[in-house]
Parts: sequence; C-alpha cells; structure tokens
Amino acid sequence: PEVAQLVASRVLDVPDFPQPGVMFKDLMPLFADGDVFRQVIDGIIAYHGRDSFDAVAGIEARGFVLAAAIAYASGVGVVPVRKAGKLPRATHAASYALEYGEATLEVHQDAFTAGRRVLVVDDVLATGGTAEATLDLVERAGGTVAGFTVLLELGFLKGRERLAPRPIHALLTV
Ligand code: IMP
Repeated sequence: PEVAQLVASRVLDVPDFPQPGVMFKDLMPLFADGDVFRQVIDGIIAYHGRDSFDAVAGIEARGFVLAAAIAYASGVGVVPVRKAGKLPRATHAASYALEYGEATLEVHQDAFTAGRRVLVVDDVLATGGTAEATLDLVERAGGTVAGFTVLLELGFLKGRERLAPRPIHALLTV
C-alpha cells in the first residue's frame, strides 16, 4: 500500500495522447524522483525475492530503465525485449494486434541459457498484448518466467485476465 501511494503520487494523466480519446498515464515524474525511484525498484526486488530470478527482461523502452536498475541492484544481467528490426542477430519474434494494425517484439534467440529464471518488467499493463508477446518470447528463448511486474495496471482493460493464469504483480492498479 505504501509503494502504491508513492506510484499514485508520481503519475500524471495526459489526455488525448498518443491519440484523441486516450488518457495516457505518464510515469516520468516517478523515474525522475530519486527517492521514489529507489523505493520502487527496491520494492519490486523485495516482492519477488532477490534470489528468485537470474536475469531481468525489460520491454522497450521504459521497461529498459526499470530492468537495468533491478538487475544492477540484484547483481544479475539485463535483457532487452525490442521492437522489430532493432536487434542485430537472430531473433524470436512475436506479433500482436493493436487497435489499429499490429506490433512485433523480438528477443535474441540466445538471450537466455536454458532454464534461466527471468523477471519481466514494464511500466504499464494495459490490454496485455505487449506482456503476452514478451512472456511468450522469454519462454521461446529458453527462459522460465519467474515473474512479471508493472508499476501501473489499468484494470479496466483486463490485461490480467488475458494473461491468466500467469500471475501479474502491479504496484498500483487503477
Ligand atoms: P498493452 O499491450 O495494451 O498492455 O500496452 C502496454 C504497453 O504500452 C507497455 O509497453 C506500456 O509502456 C505502453 N502503454 C500503454 N498505455 C500506456 C499508458 O497509459 N502510459 C504509459 N505506457 C502505456
């Protein structure tokens, strides 16, 4: 509850971004506040347990910031899950439907040694399409999903149901 309040205090609602009718949740104030950022990172590590994962995967681009901090503080490595066409070597790719069109995410095929326990992080869970593709990629690349954490879950978009039965950890659900 305490971390939830911290997150709530550092979210800005931006109307009509990236398109009319969408209320975008901007977490940049949280990233920019050193005390809050540290408490959030420490809170995520404490929730999962420092010894429950061997690597951290971050989803482009705000997930990278979180993943790097969690990985550094835990003494493990960080793996980027990137938008299509950015990774230089052989990848696994997963596509998912957007409201208009399609998006593709990729991870290097050799990103994880077999059985590596991977903590996946992102800033916001909305419809769950991004997360579903990412968890699929982690498993196809040989990893085991140790957990999935977001700072903010938009409950009304039902991403949690889409990802069921996989457990989702959200610091704050609105
Ligand atoms: P989903 O695939 O619909 O769950 O969308 C989640 C992805 O889009 C995540 O990578 C988020 O970073 C991004 N996203 C969606 N909505 C928001 C928002 O309101 N604020 C910030 N990021 C968002």
